[in-house]
Amino acid sequence: MIAKRYEPFWKTTPMAQMAPSEWESICDGCGKCCLQKMVDDETEEVYYTNLSCHQLDINACRCKVYDQRLEKVEGCLSLRPEDVAAFDWLPDTCSYRVLHQTGDLPNWHPLVVGSDREMKTQGLNVSHYAVNENTVDEERWEEHIIKWVHGMPEPYDPTY
Ligand code: SF4
Ligand code: SF4
Repeated sequence: MIAKRYEPFWKTTPMAQMAPSEWESICDGCGKCCLQKMVDDETEEVYYTNLSCHQLDINACRCKVYDQRLEKVEGCLSLRPEDVAAFDWLPDTCSYRVLHQTGDLPNWHPLVVGSDREMKTQGLNVSHYAVNENTVDEERWEEHIIKWVHGMPEPYDPTY
């Protein structure tokens, strides 16, 4: 007898129809969306810095005020399935983007692996390079611009 193979929910349930707990579990906890961004006035291009929101617990890559984040931090956003088409400002490795674009999660995702082991091994969360935004003067934020290559940070030299 051949055992029936069950597909995981993220392959069978459209994002807009996921239960809230399923939707939340798609977040891989990388913390990249909690890094401060700078926008070029002329091109509107978004540049990420390695400066994290002051409410991010950098070691754990967890928001310290998750349930009240929208009231506590101006500019913090709630990601909703209906906004998925506008997710292009998120990093390429964001699992919401990956799932939207490919129909599957990356092979290092905690739901696939069963833990965050692969994310830690591959350095895919920000804990090893993020710096609390409150420790750097805003005039010097430009020096903290980064770009990611295969999910890893590299110093970036802006030409604008
Ligand atoms: S970038 Fe995407 S996957 Fe990473 S913490 Fe933010 S929402 Fe979650
Ligand atoms: S308030 Fe929390 S979720 Fe929002 S940007 Fe800051 S650390 Fe991230």
